Amino acid sequence: MPNNNMPRNMYDVVIIGAGCAGLGAAMYAGRLNMKTLIIADNIGGTITLTDVVENYPGFIRLTGQELADNLRKHAEDYKIEKEEAKVTKIRKEHGCFFVETNEKKVHESKTIIFATGTEWRKLNIPGEKEFASKGVHYCALCDGAIYQNRVVAVVGGGDSAAKEALLLSQYASKVYVIVRGDKLRGEPINNDRVAKNPKIEVVTNVNVREIAGDKVVKGIKLDKPVNGNTTLNLDAVFAAIGHIALSQLAKDAGVSTNEKGEVMIDRESKTNVPGFFAAGDVCDTHFKQAITGVSEGVTAVYSAYTYINENEFICPVGNEDLMVKVENKKKK
Ligand SMILES: Cc1cc2nc3c(=O)[nH]c(=O)nc-3n(C[C@H](O)[C@H](O)[C@H](O)COP(=O)(O)OP(=O)(O)OC[C@H]3O[C@@H](n4cnc5c(N)ncnc54)[C@H](O)[C@@H]3O)c2cc1C
Repeated sequence: MPNNNMPRNMYDVVIIGAGCAGLGAAMYAGRLNMKTLIIADNIGGTITLTDVVENYPGFIRLTGQELADNLRKHAEDYKIEKEEAKVTKIRKEHGCFFVETNEKKVHESKTIIFATGTEWRKLNIPGEKEFASKGVHYCALCDGAIYQNRVVAVVGGGDSAAKEALLLSQYASKVYVIVRGDKLRGEPINNDRVAKNPKIEVVTNVNVREIAGDKVVKGIKLDKPVNGNTTLNLDAVFAAIGHIALSQLAKDAGVSTNEKGEVMIDRESKTNVPGFFAAGDVCDTHFKQAITGVSEGVTAVYSAYTYINENEFICPVGNEDLMVKVENKKKK
């Protein structure tokens, strides 16, 4: 890794986000001897919110928290720096990046790996905000145990919905899965488990119109009858209808996103902004899993490493406090 004439505390890479993608990237950056800082407000990220992971190669079965801990320990086995903070701004000046945090720190870096993941997509129906945490939830692992021997519903039709229902069936007496489409589209193995689970009832071609209750949730109103009734009496609703990319910081730094707001990357995890790479659920890749996020993170590191080697980072002589410029060696 060329050091050039760098008097300042300039990182080779600042990784924003410490989920699977960011932690995988940090491990690889450490391995490549890159001067690395990883910043996140939640070390471990989304995978820690799922109970069982059975599709991460090399581990037949482990909890999401164990997988996150393994990734973190592997990254920490190399010389990297870690900071728990929220990034509030990323700006590029004269070819280098400045990363600002809510702790009023500013870090300089030659490259960025953006791996901020997603937030829960909301149902946007009456009662959702009113009963938030009073029967409306987004994470079965976090809140499912409250509903021992109660009736709950999962709203959603993908693999996350299937997994949430399976987990909730360990506590609840009955779990409805409310699917807008004509079938549950989970992984086949999870669909089979749902079908065989006597506590779970999948209801298809139906939409939730409203969440009803008084101080807490008492039921949901549907757009057509289920078991002869348009209201299902229950104690909690778990929304599992997908996620929204947390891409605003990247957008503000000039990075292109698609119509869903996902950061657009190529097969080398490059964005349209030179030196700015991205990985994981925040990106426009269709299949979003722990392993795909790690793969994009590792690819991003290799691209960042190559980018640094292909460019020269120079402090103007006699003006070392000024911005560092980037010049492409190939152009010389
Ligand atoms: C219910 C459920 C079950 C799942 N089960 C599986 C499974 O069995 N197998 C599997 O492979 N995948 C599973 N997934 C998908 C998997 O969890 C994700 O694909 C993966 O965790 C995404 O990792 P990521 O690093 O891209 O994002 P995340 O894990 O979301 O990490 C984002 C990181 O960015 C940080 N961050 C965001 N904004 C900022 C900011 N402004 N400043 C600082 N830090 C910031 C967060 O704190 C966090 O550290 C499941 C998902 C869900 C919801």
